[in-house]
Amino acid sequence: MTTTTGRERTPTWTNWAGTASASPARVVEPRCSDEVADVVVSAAARGEKVRVVGSGHSFTPLCATDGTHVRLTHLSGILDVDRALGRVRVAGGTPLHVLNPILEGLGLALPNLGDIDRQTIAGAIATGTHGTGVRHQGIASAVVGLTLVLADGSVVSVDDAHDVELFEAARVGLGAFGVVTEVELQCVPAFRLRALETQARLSDVLANYEQMVAEHDHVDVLWFKHSDRVLLKRNSRVDSSDAGESQPRWQAWLDDELLGNRTLEAVNRLAAAAPRLAPVINEISGRAIGNKDHTDVSWKVFCSSRKVRFKESEYAVPLASLPAVIGELRAWIDKHGTAYPFPAEIRSLGADDVWLSTAYERESAYVAVQQYHRMDDGGIFAAFESIVREHDGRPHWGKLHTLGAEDFARLYPRFGDVLRVRDRVDPDRRFANDHLTHVLGA
Ligand SMILES: Cc1cc2nc3c(=O)[nH]c(=O)nc-3n(C[C@H](O)[C@H](O)[C@H](O)COP(=O)(O)OP(=O)(O)OC[C@H]3O[C@@H](n4cnc5c(N)ncnc54)[C@H](O)[C@@H]3O)c2cc1C
Repeated sequence: MTTTTGRERTPTWTNWAGTASASPARVVEPRCSDEVADVVVSAAARGEKVRVVGSGHSFTPLCATDGTHVRLTHLSGILDVDRALGRVRVAGGTPLHVLNPILEGLGLALPNLGDIDRQTIAGAIATGTHGTGVRHQGIASAVVGLTLVLADGSVVSVDDAHDVELFEAARVGLGAFGVVTEVELQCVPAFRLRALETQARLSDVLANYEQMVAEHDHVDVLWFKHSDRVLLKRNSRVDSSDAGESQPRWQAWLDDELLGNRTLEAVNRLAAAAPRLAPVINEISGRAIGNKDHTDVSWKVFCSSRKVRFKESEYAVPLASLPAVIGELRAWIDKHGTAYPFPAEIRSLGADDVWLSTAYERESAYVAVQQYHRMDDGGIFAAFESIVREHDGRPHWGKLHTLGAEDFARLYPRFGDVLRVRDRVDPDRRFANDHLTHVLGA
């Protein structure tokens, strides 16, 4: 186990977006569940709090602590494969970009993914990370078992037959129930996706949204704010024998690096220097994007590299509320005058049964609002939050929001059960920090 202590030797931790930071008293990198248990027990003896950090891709200060920071850098990879059931047991610190190609080699895949693969598996499920598709769910829905180190140092394995309440609470668990050292995942046979990307009008997309998401497996809409233009991405599952037209490597690089990241960075810098140009820039961007049609293995279509830094808030609302939410947001942006060069993202998801999932028992539309990291948000996050509040919006646990425990008690039918499980497994709040106290209560 690697341990770094002393403020001069534990550099300040900052998340990917630069929206959260911490100066932990010590940083530990255990090599197995038993070492994680030692870490938790010794932190308790010192009266220190414990927070696990995944890849630091959450925008909220979920990982911040002045106590012990646990990094599962050494707990990575596949531990076990059940080929008959299509299940794998993976170490909690496994990054998705490591997991996805290994699964492909086994002829398996996660059923749905978000748009990047930098997160660790335990970090991704802890905040309810999701992709898009009303016939599909978030990553935590694929979790069929968890191994956790609890606050008293015990190591427990939970699933739908063993301590089902802890299993349900910890699937999207915000790191509040213990350190997840192993995750068992129900995979699907590896599959290919045909990716169709076209320019479209926001008004047309909203008018046909429910029909469109019913017809395509994964619909992702990028809306160029200040304009009626969108990039419409429709990914459909194709037969595994359907090779389709795969994208040459140079073109994938051109799209991801040059057009995706470098052009986006340049466009955002320009808008930061001359905010009044943002509407023109967005209109041109919306017209300039080219149509694309290619087929590839699922994870290569779902995930791309995101190098331009931004701040983001994302809320899930009932699917039928989407046109109203976008209409109100658009009216606010048009009236307000602040420049928003970053495209907003609209996705959808089927209902699930994970207690703290944003799609718990609700077919949902997701609206994500961003601002380039060098620009002031101009009040958009607060305005967006007051719009979605009226539509029973549930914030992504890892993205900017100000909601607290009393809001979540109203928004999540099983919130009381979640708190009861937390009282049972972490009565001394070993895994708490200020942010968790705000969202789950003291
Ligand atoms: C560029 C970018 C793109 C994104 N795209 C998407 C997207 O498409 N869809 C989406 O839903 N979200 C997306 N997100 C949000 C991101 O997926 C989540 O915030 C996710 O939780 C980050 O995973 P992580 O490994 O970085 O975890 P961290 O942010 O480091 O931690 C998140 C939480 O998990 C806990 N945790 C981590 N490891 C463990 C463990 N082993 N045991 C217990 N608790 C643990 C932490 O304590 C913390 O509470 C994106 C974020 C960024 C910056």
